[in-house]
Amino acid sequence: MDDVIIIGGSFAGLAGALQLGRARRKVTVLDTGLPRNRFAGHSHGLLGHDHKPPQEILAAARQQLARYATVKLVNARADAISGAVDDFTVRTSDGSSLKARRLLLTYGIADQMPATPGFAECWGKSIVPCPYCDGFEVAGQHWGLLWSGPHSLHATTLYGDWTDRLTVFTDGHALSNDERADLARRNVAVVDGKLATITHSDGQLATVNLDTGRSVAIDVLFAHPRNRPSASLHEILALETVEHPLGFTLKVDDRRQTSHPGIYAAGDLANPMASVTLASSQGAMAAIFAQQSMLA
Ligand SMILES: Cc1cc2nc3c(=O)[nH]c(=O)nc-3n(C[C@H](O)[C@H](O)[C@H](O)COP(=O)(O)OP(=O)(O)OC[C@H]3O[C@@H](n4cnc5c(N)ncnc54)[C@H](O)[C@@H]3O)c2cc1C
Repeated sequence: MDDVIIIGGSFAGLAGALQLGRARRKVTVLDTGLPRNRFAGHSHGLLGHDHKPPQEILAAARQQLARYATVKLVNARADAISGAVDDFTVRTSDGSSLKARRLLLTYGIADQMPATPGFAECWGKSIVPCPYCDGFEVAGQHWGLLWSGPHSLHATTLYGDWTDRLTVFTDGHALSNDERADLARRNVAVVDGKLATITHSDGQLATVNLDTGRSVAIDVLFAHPRNRPSASLHEILALETVEHPLGFTLKVDDRRQTSHPGIYAAGDLANPMASVTLASSQGAMAAIFAQQSMLA
């Protein structure tokens, strides 16, 4: 039996495995190799690893984990979880049944691409979600923001630290008069109509084309598609969740334990503020609290 099975071997999961390996705990990490930022050429903002391809950072982490004999990395999907604290069972896609005293869920979330032609091709290249991740490289350029609800208003003020050339695409949302007045006061252009297509060259956006017939040239589009967890394992044990404007995350306490004793969660699956740095730090935290919960 393992001490901990970690489901999801990306930034949160591998950071957890590192702490547990250093505490000489027996760990299996199950992973399907699809980190959320795999569409991006570079990952930004992680101390010591700024502007590196995400897969390069993860490969280095996997290589460093090879030092720890008690950590096993397995390319397999977790398909089911059952049991209770000190006696969990995880069934995997390769037909194995693994047992552990604790579980750490770090299987992340998946962004749901709209059907708009060109959108998915530009995702991670010139359509991006986060200015902290990708804003510096396009600072001062003409940014677009695809409005996805009242939470989008905050983005229009936030982006002011990177550019003063911002166009909001309402994408069929009804903005209130107050919102429009606020945007006008800050010289943010507003373009109505629903997104129809994106014209691009190899993922590099050229124009946003609307169902009104209007086309607008911009350099980068910030967008926040709805998302959902990358697996549904949390549903099996009916773990509690927290709703957000674009989806939901697993509810965790200040030790990163979910509503089910002995099951911990970290990374984007349990934190709406997506970041490699936060996923890694929370993965480490969750692992340490899981380890400390097993002390005699
Ligand atoms: C386009 C884009 C660009 C980004 N750029 C940056 C950036 O520059 N800097 C930054 O800090 N953040 C960036 N982010 C955010 C960053 O990608 C996430 O915060 C981070 O990947 C979260 O790490 P995680 O470990 O929680 O989940 P993920 O990295 O999504 O990893 C989840 C892992 O679980 C695996 N998995 C899923 N289901 C199962 C299962 N059933 N069994 C086993 N394994 C499973 C997946 O294959 C995957 O490897 C970006 C996000 C996007 C979408």
